[in-house]
Amino acid sequence: MTLVKQVGNEDLKEEINFECETGNYHTFCPISCVAWLYQKIEDSFFLVIGTKTCGYFLQNALGVMIFAEPRYAMAELEEGDISAQLSDYEELKRLCLQVKRDRNPSVIFWIGTCTTEIIKMDLEGIAPKLEVEINLPIVVARANGLDYAFTQGEDTVLAALAQRPNSKQSKNIELKTTSDENSIEHLPLILFGSIPDPVVNQLTLELKKQGIHVSGWLPSKRYTDLPLINEGNYVCGVNPYLSRTATTLMRRRKCKLIGAPFPIGPDGTRAWLEKICMVFGVEPKGLQKREDEVWEKLKYYISLIDGKSVFFMGDNLLEISLARFLIKSGMIVFEIGIPYMDKRYQGAELQLLQKTCKEKNIPIPIIIEKPDNYNQVDRIRDMRPDLVITGMAHANPLEARGINTKWSVEFTFAQIHGFTNAIDVLELVTRPLRRNQKLEKVGSQRYTDRR
Ligand code: SF4
Repeated sequence: MTLVKQVGNEDLKEEINFECETGNYHTFCPISCVAWLYQKIEDSFFLVIGTKTCGYFLQNALGVMIFAEPRYAMAELEEGDISAQLSDYEELKRLCLQVKRDRNPSVIFWIGTCTTEIIKMDLEGIAPKLEVEINLPIVVARANGLDYAFTQGEDTVLAALAQRPNSKQSKNIELKTTSDENSIEHLPLILFGSIPDPVVNQLTLELKKQGIHVSGWLPSKRYTDLPLINEGNYVCGVNPYLSRTATTLMRRRKCKLIGAPFPIGPDGTRAWLEKICMVFGVEPKGLQKREDEVWEKLKYYISLIDGKSVFFMGDNLLEISLARFLIKSGMIVFEIGIPYMDKRYQGAELQLLQKTCKEKNIPIPIIIEKPDNYNQVDRIRDMRPDLVITGMAHANPLEARGINTKWSVEFTFAQIHGFTNAIDVLELVTRPLRRNQKLEKVGSQRYTDRR
């Protein structure tokens, strides 16, 4: 296994305080990843093999999307399936043929759930036989609530994609772009992480400005456009929750991982670009200026949050990167809750967090893995932070107790990567503060005075 520049985890442990609680916290089930992945991979179809519980969750969590004929469906298990009276193979074949006939996708993803785990349905065993029979690729991902949290669903799907051998249709990687004089000759670089296409273009362009050519993205816009992944290629992640995908690319595909902070916030984006440049021996050009320009644009939002405190209850694994960006913007972070912490994959991000805290001369926040929401609510009551980033279960009850909250799930669906989207992150963070400021005025003028 190769990891470009080992991260000094030993040094980090001394200074960052990690704790682990009971894991009694709210988060979305990882099967929710179908919501953004079916939109990202345009020629896919997602079949979630589970029970009505999973169906109810998807139906509710995805809101209005369910009325737009989405390319996902539930294969709902019945008594007969659970007691093995029906043949799993025949049932799945029937459903997949129906999907093929009605939607004609280029790939079907089977999403395993808690039930398929517990009854030990052999999805990985059935898929290879069935895909030959129906002549359609089937990718199996176990995105269940027993093992994973929310965004880690994407990780299981991308890890499953990364395991598939290069198909004949995979795009050939050009070693060099000839059209651009600026570009340097380097080994292929593949970026992984599902982000909206405009953001893909922005990040690709930022690297192109440095003379670095992106050979492909995992996932690509279409399944048939998946990049060729060969031994010795460089890979780099854009999302903090893709540690299994990173491991699969390193171990199975023998790729070299560039361990960089994640391109969230202008500081993170610059550090991400600089790390990639460093690996390819490129001197980064104009990044300081670019970063300064973005900070300049963020001034108004920063004036709203400077010196304010924030508490992350933790449910989507974006917490470390967001906390680091908010600290750089002048906020004080009391606690970073996070469902799962891969200190190796997030090593560079942790180092940047440490550096940012030193720069700002504030203590490094405690990182609580697998938090306990009951304990957290107690701590919130004691600390009374200016903002709590949390799930919908706690948002309204906390608001009713006079504590500002921001719904964490929005960070997963908003565009938060790259230089230009930094403003969107602060827009989200400051929204409850701005709204409550306005309401205070309205409250005192229109309601309190009249009483
Ligand atoms: S936690 Fe398990 S049972 Fe619940 S929705 Fe997720 S996969 Fe289905």
